[in-house]
Amino acid sequence: MEVVVFKKEKIENLIKRSEIDISTVIPKVSEIIREVKECGDEALINLTRKFDGVEIDKIKVTKDEIKRSYKRLDDSIIHALKKASKNIKKFHERQIPKEWFINNDIYAGQIIRPIESVGCYIPGGRAVYPSTALMTIIPAKVAGVKRVVCCTPPQENGFVDDATLVAADIAGADEIYKVGGVQAIAALAYGTETIRPVNKIVGPGNIFVTAAKKLVYGDVDIDFLAGPSEVLIIADENAKEEYITAEMLAQAEHDPQASSVLVTNSTKIANNVRSLIKKKIKKYKRREIIEKSLKENGKIVITKNIRESIDFANKYAPEHLVLMVKNPEKYLKYINNAGSIFLGDNTPVSAGDYGLGSNHVLPTGGFAKACGGLSTESFIKKITVQKLSKKGLLSLKDIVIPLSEYEGLDGHAKSFKKRLEVLKSEHDKC
Ligand code: NAD
Repeated sequence: MEVVVFKKEKIENLIKRSEIDISTVIPKVSEIIREVKECGDEALINLTRKFDGVEIDKIKVTKDEIKRSYKRLDDSIIHALKKASKNIKKFHERQIPKEWFINNDIYAGQIIRPIESVGCYIPGGRAVYPSTALMTIIPAKVAGVKRVVCCTPPQENGFVDDATLVAADIAGADEIYKVGGVQAIAALAYGTETIRPVNKIVGPGNIFVTAAKKLVYGDVDIDFLAGPSEVLIIADENAKEEYITAEMLAQAEHDPQASSVLVTNSTKIANNVRSLIKKKIKKYKRREIIEKSLKENGKIVITKNIRESIDFANKYAPEHLVLMVKNPEKYLKYINNAGSIFLGDNTPVSAGDYGLGSNHVLPTGGFAKACGGLSTESFIKKITVQKLSKKGLLSLKDIVIPLSEYEGLDGHAKSFKKRLEVLKSEHDKC
């Protein structure tokens, strides 16, 4: 793993992380989308056979299958899913935006309405993600979405993973389909005989799923394109080296393309963490993935002070930002770009991943400069409402008439002037 001293002129190199080059899979993904559009359910069955190696006859998950999954699942997992879902619900309820009105001659404001139907993609290729079912379906339900559709690939036995199915049920999914990959995204966007199309698709996935979301965007809305996961830890001389090491190893185990970055103003911490990682890595089950990830994308950056560390973090815009410094709250006001922020020694990213309440579907690859993670607002539309009194109408004439005429939109000016004429004649009559 690289250890570098921070230099402003090197910033572009330092903030680089592995990027998934979606363009390489676009032709293949377009072809799969076309197949689903043309052949509907038959394409879903054929593509599931081809890419998941599984024969399915019915795409929709039945109530019996859900019941069987509850029976097979260990009680401790059901308990964990229920407890996590309570925390996630509570957190996302606080995110419901308010309706408001300016009650004046210009009466204007906004009402909020849920999107009518949403598709939640729950990955399930190389690993299973019941926690992602909670993180996508619960906010949609809290927002009031009537039809929440969940798609996830079947496992080798032809069924959806038990915990994923139970999580989707606890979270309140209205329909669950055992179909994954590009074919699931295409079905959600354009519909088949069994799956009706939705208005918006959310959730993470591999390069094929991500490319498919990019291609269907415009026909439906999407949340954002999420790539390999990242953590950036800011540590001062008081930080606990064991915790920093554990955090970096935990992020690296996601994916060989995941990025773990430590930014510290303490050379001692930098050197000790580097040695600790080498020692601890041997005990991890996913050692091979971690080693690849740290070799290709792991980094320790040494800065002059905490403010310089924060400047670096703002440029990097990490998915997860961990502040292991004294009085971390003090530094919040300087942070502009991060998907989610974890403060202090007792807040590992894994707590956020599984159910302290906040969402784990977050922007990666520097996209945190432009947007936040999945939230209740992702499922809500703000609709503006306006009503002018006669006085309000008159107060706008020196805005609307000159600007609409300047733009050459004669009809706009006429529509406004017509109201003024009527007002004037009413006034003259009195
Ligand atoms: P996945 O469900 O995204 O993809 C599996 C599907 O990909 C299969 O069903 C198959 O249809 C399709 N597929 C596989 N190989 C293909 C090929 N050669 N051509 C066409 N289609 C093909 O599951 P995954 O592969 O395990 O990937 C999950 C990803 O989601 C990981 O990168 C993981 O890190 C990420 N993830 C992110 C978050 C987050 O919140 N950011 C959460 C969970 C998972």
